[in-house]
Amino acid sequence: MAFEGLADKLSAAFKRLKSKGKLSEPDIKEAMREIRLALLEADVNYKVAKEFTAKVSERAVGQDVMESLTPAQMVVKIVNEELTALMGSDAARLATASTPPTVIMLCGLQGAGKTTHGGKLALMLKKQGHRPLLVAADIYRPAAIKQLQVVGEKAGVPVFEQGTEKPVKICRAAVKHAKDYGNDIVLIDTAGRLQIDEVLMDELKEIKAAVQPQEILLVVDAMTGQEAVNVSKTFDDLLEITGVILTKLDGDTRGGAALSVRSVTGKPIKFVGVGEKQEDLEVFHPDRMASRILG
Ligand code: GDP
Repeated sequence: MAFEGLADKLSAAFKRLKSKGKLSEPDIKEAMREIRLALLEADVNYKVAKEFTAKVSERAVGQDVMESLTPAQMVVKIVNEELTALMGSDAARLATASTPPTVIMLCGLQGAGKTTHGGKLALMLKKQGHRPLLVAADIYRPAAIKQLQVVGEKAGVPVFEQGTEKPVKICRAAVKHAKDYGNDIVLIDTAGRLQIDEVLMDELKEIKAAVQPQEILLVVDAMTGQEAVNVSKTFDDLLEITGVILTKLDGDTRGGAALSVRSVTGKPIKFVGVGEKQEDLEVFHPDRMASRILG
């Protein structure tokens, strides 16, 4: 299960605190050291972990906590609040265009789950009463168009494709098609690469300039930990993303990406992928995630 190691270690640290009754400053310091180590072992970004425990410590070493009848309980509450804040507090909503269609670009490295999540998002939006259009803009992998067609068919959502036409042209034509046919949301499945390169980024920038998307969602694989955070930072620096879809959270990811993305990039995780099925998509709720980590 995801976050298992982190959850266990935090719970052990809290148990030790609880056994102490009243807390002294060194007790809290020691607990913060344990929490910091647990975060680092969960692959949380070093700076994020350090700032996090500094913040919790600052709040915990106050009169209120140390003189309370259940000081350890109050520390847990502070950790819960700060974990929630770290991940962005409120669930982020999708931006919409004032005049339809709303354009959403899905970007990411190959294998992150981009196409799968195009399908998941299409299905979720369709269930909400929207009429999404999936767009096949990954022209480099021969199987990519076919894969999107399969995904679209499963979701009951049409797929726009023009073979290996220039991606920017495909995207422009898709937006026009959506206007003509009453699709209120355009979901663009862009090309992925094994690593970030200039050609890929230039193409994405070109598409962005041409269709002016309301959302640029970066799809990253939670299993890759800090790498997911680095990829997010680079994409954001070069393309200015609006949010992240964190995939494969059903695996035994240690959790570092979920906890670091927001703080490192300033951009929220908007959705999480929790399985291979098309229904396995959830809106990301920082408070629920914090509660899950704290057990
Ligand atoms: P793309 O290259 O980024 O378009 O990646 P794909 O959408 O083809 O996904 C790559 C692999 O990851 C596929 O085998 C998917 O079934 C799998 N996958 C995608 N999302 C998830 C998820 O949330 N959980 C799990 N367990 N597998 C996923």
